[in-house]
Amino acid sequence: MGEYFHSVILEDDKCIGCTNCIKRCPTEAIRVKNGKARIIKERCIDCGECIRICPQHAKNSITDPIESIKDFKYKIALPAPSLLGQFDENTDPKKILSALKSIGFDEVFEVSRGADIVSNYTRELLKNPSKLPLISSSCPAIVRLIQIRFPSLIDHIVPIESPMEVAAMLARQKSVQKTGLSPEDIGIFFISPCPAKITSVKNPIGNFHSNVDRIISIKSVYPLIKKNLKKDLQNDETEFYDSGKAIGWARSGGETFSLNIQDYLCVDGIENVIKILDEIENDKLKNIKFVECLACINGCVGGSLTVENAFVARNRIRKLSQKYMKEKEIQLNKTIKDFLLKEKILPKNVRKLDDNIIEAMKKMEKIDYINSLLPDLDCGACGSPSCRALAEDIVLGYSNLDDCMIIFRDKVNALLSKKKNASKKNTD
Ligand code: SF4
Ligand code: SF4
Repeated sequence: MGEYFHSVILEDDKCIGCTNCIKRCPTEAIRVKNGKARIIKERCIDCGECIRICPQHAKNSITDPIESIKDFKYKIALPAPSLLGQFDENTDPKKILSALKSIGFDEVFEVSRGADIVSNYTRELLKNPSKLPLISSSCPAIVRLIQIRFPSLIDHIVPIESPMEVAAMLARQKSVQKTGLSPEDIGIFFISPCPAKITSVKNPIGNFHSNVDRIISIKSVYPLIKKNLKKDLQNDETEFYDSGKAIGWARSGGETFSLNIQDYLCVDGIENVIKILDEIENDKLKNIKFVECLACINGCVGGSLTVENAFVARNRIRKLSQKYMKEKEIQLNKTIKDFLLKEKILPKNVRKLDDNIIEAMKKMEKIDYINSLLPDLDCGACGSPSCRALAEDIVLGYSNLDDCMIIFRDKVNALLSKKKNASKKNTD
């Protein structure tokens, strides 16, 4: 199996080692050593928090170039609903989609079509749930967080493909019928608000391969759409899928709203999500049926690859969602089985202390001991996100005790006073 692909990368030359990012990483995946940050790949969930916080723009996300449109005979743009929130609410959604198509696509197929289908089947699952609460699988950063930090909650994850995957599958089937081309000649381009979705295309969760072929960020198509909005696109036949409920998925609370249930929680922002997952793990949320967890504040409109202020975009999505609120009839020749995940989601064992259990336990004891020597300030000046993380780094051989500024300072002070005492004795 090839190396796990991460969309989030560090541009080494831009990093000044300021340590701003290490404290914001929810999985303690960043270290700063020798004046440069480094991402511990196994721990990264591609949430994009470090992209947002870095003052030097040293963290970035790998996407496909727009020119890759040329790689396919028939090209379909698959925009996330959050794209609509990037434009003024008076801009007709159809115009936005037409302008997107005119970049070089043959067709636009919105992810919101997949969202309505996922909502339908989640409602079905909720009638006879295997676990409660069910946890939404729509945010891949959260699914990966659960794999890494909350493996006991894996069985709570809704085992249905994401709206993006469902939409990509339907778009390909439809265009094969329409064009007579083979499926490989059709390129599905997801227009993404966040790096986590990019990673989930390259390393699908719960499936063998993704239905998406390429990913382009919202921020890279935004200026092109903006430019094309001015063109007269009146004769364009681009369809707009006017489902208010599906558009609402772009903001926190949108998915839950579409389920028509009462006992739910909507949580956005990775730190808030961690607190709620802790509560579920400790069996404290007994009466809750469904939990929508989104890594970005405000939901997908807050993704690090969008351009508009997340609060502004969220409000626009709210208004659009209300404007097009109606029950959409979904006619599909399929059942829930066609959309279930094909593989079991498995826990991710990150940074194992040792393959040998006895050795691992010894190392754990050592970590506890070193941690007891550290000042418990979690200042991050050592380049590790917390004193406990530094203790672990020391035991694993990545750091040493002198990386702690306080210990180093005390050591220097002790040496200086020893020297002073010695020279005083000599003069006496
Ligand atoms: S925030 Fe992190 S990546 Fe950015 S400059 Fe500071 S240490 Fe480097
Ligand atoms: S993308 Fe998220 S998990 Fe990965 S290094 Fe950045 S902050 Fe940490």
